[in-house]
Amino acid sequence: MRIITYPHPTLRHKSKPLRRVDAELKKTIGHMLDLMYADEGVGLAANQVDLPYRVFVLNLTADSAAKDEEHVFINPTILKRSGTQEFEEGCLSVPEIYGDVKRSAKILLSAYNLTGQEMRYELTGLFARAVQHENDHLDGVLFIDRLTETGKLTVQDAIESLERAFADERARGRIADDQQIAARLAELEALRA
Ligand code: ZN
Repeated sequence: MRIITYPHPTLRHKSKPLRRVDAELKKTIGHMLDLMYADEGVGLAANQVDLPYRVFVLNLTADSAAKDEEHVFINPTILKRSGTQEFEEGCLSVPEIYGDVKRSAKILLSAYNLTGQEMRYELTGLFARAVQHENDHLDGVLFIDRLTETGKLTVQDAIESLERAFADERARGRIADDQQIAARLAELEALRA
């Protein structure tokens, strides 16, 4: 398992809800947490590790020792939103690019935890922001899509450089073609979603 970067097609995949929480899914989530901590991220969605599952992990401290700050959200749904807040975001899948994004200031989230229980969370501030960012990933949306027009212009060169790097990797045969990727995602979804 590895973190994929923009413009990998799996980052644009809208994932279907998972049907069950089993040992294999828990193992996958464990790997996701390891990768998130290794890259000093605060959140990681399944799309970012090339998996079509509606699940993301979060630890706002980015500290693997702070287990009580570690959260797993399975089949999350944002039930209510209110207010707006604007703040700078980045993403492990869009390396070295940052920009201000407007998000809801307060959200009510429903999600299943690792024991398969449905939980409700009322979230504000950075927690609410991070959840909205990760939840977007599950719908194939990236924070760069939500930048202002000026923000988009500011990061355009850096985005194009990521696109060239991806094309190079593909030309070297290190990344499957779009059809192969789509077929693999469909297969995984048929098994688990
Ligand atoms: Zn992200």
